[in-house]
Amino acid sequence: MVQLTFYGGVNEIGGNKILLEDKDTRIFLDFGKSFTCGCDYFTGWLSPRRINGLGDYFHCGLLPKISGIYAEDQLKFTDLPYTEPSIDAIFLSHAHFDHIAHIEFVDPKIPVYLGEGTKLFVKSQEETSTFSDYGEHPYKTFRTGDKIQIGNIVVEPIHVDHSIPAAYGFLIHTSEGTLVYTGDLRLHGPRKDMTEEFIDRACDSDPIAMICEGTRMVEVERRKNYSEQQVKQHSDEVVSSTDKMVFFTHYSRDMDRFRSLYSVAKDNSRRIVVSTKTAYLLSKLVDDKRLDLPDPVKDDDILVYFKRKKSGDFEEKDYYLWERPFIDKIVTFEDIHKKQSEYVMDLGFYQFAELVDIKPDSGSHFIHSMSEPFSDEDIEDEVMHNWLKLFNLQFHQLHASGHMNRQQLGKLIRKVNPKKLFPIHTENPQLFKSLGYDVQIVECEHNYNI
Ligand SMILES: [Zn+2]
Repeated sequence: MVQLTFYGGVNEIGGNKILLEDKDTRIFLDFGKSFTCGCDYFTGWLSPRRINGLGDYFHCGLLPKISGIYAEDQLKFTDLPYTEPSIDAIFLSHAHFDHIAHIEFVDPKIPVYLGEGTKLFVKSQEETSTFSDYGEHPYKTFRTGDKIQIGNIVVEPIHVDHSIPAAYGFLIHTSEGTLVYTGDLRLHGPRKDMTEEFIDRACDSDPIAMICEGTRMVEVERRKNYSEQQVKQHSDEVVSSTDKMVFFTHYSRDMDRFRSLYSVAKDNSRRIVVSTKTAYLLSKLVDDKRLDLPDPVKDDDILVYFKRKKSGDFEEKDYYLWERPFIDKIVTFEDIHKKQSEYVMDLGFYQFAELVDIKPDSGSHFIHSMSEPFSDEDIEDEVMHNWLKLFNLQFHQLHASGHMNRQQLGKLIRKVNPKKLFPIHTENPQLFKSLGYDVQIVECEHNYNI
């Protein structure tokens, strides 16, 4: 008997934590953090205390009390006794935090399987952020086409296109038949061929069941439905029609978007200015040649923005060790101010105070290359627009989603044709029923046979 238990991603977008049991073999598919995790009890600087391990999480009901998965030191201040691992492996589909973040609590004895690129993202995040620590794990990297045997199960990762490199779906060959897990995926990105390959392989496996993401399974789509190519084209229209400064913001791990904005800058004889964090991430990702990303140290079209520190002299010693390799590519607020027509600058929301130093000319541009706000009362969105008004920056909303829309999901499901369907990572699982499949609407922490 093969069973599934969903500990996250149920009636919500993100937070996937799926337990698959085949006789005495037990694996988790993703171990992510919900976007809403803890928002009833924690906000701003009030957050679960790291020193208390899982104590605050369990007390507030933020993570399931499962024996044999968590690290001994994380359980120290809880009523769940530590036991040796009862989970054989965790498979991570991609490096978005709603799929990986809670591995920080996982027992370091449990192997974590992930794509080469996903490991680079994890390491880069840990090295450049004081708050990120995913814990020690025996990481095992995979590539498309590998067949990884874990007890009674064989897991076959296959690349898909998503808004982050190194995203995978899985074909999981169990003693009852093949189970397909989509992870997150799209068909309108630059590597839609990878998603098509995944769909073909999933179809050929004649699956008994599919766990399918449904981020954009909505009654009526209200957001713009751009492809990456359209985002690039419209960004080019903005940049080519002005000699003023152009700022943009994007999800820091969306390298397709970085590539788009990088080309737009270059095509318009401008140089792209990135943060030290993005420079560091790029310097790690260039090792993966297939990603075809520019090297921030060697590429003359990339400059790196160093913030003003106490000395005011931009001396190497003012900066973190990981920032220093990019000091030769330095660009300061004064440089940007003087030559506004020569740059396209990556400016994240949390860096907006830099505008006070940069002093962009009135009528400069800001490309918001991220999702539109999820609610009308989004505080950050309001604050962002206050800043834009303060500097009279022209706002452009240009974003391509990392997910399939409703029609594409329908096509995917019809093609793969699973006998049973488990919609997750969606707020509207019931909408999948209109496709006429045997749809299992799942509840949190219940067991389902596949
Ligand atoms: Zn994702």
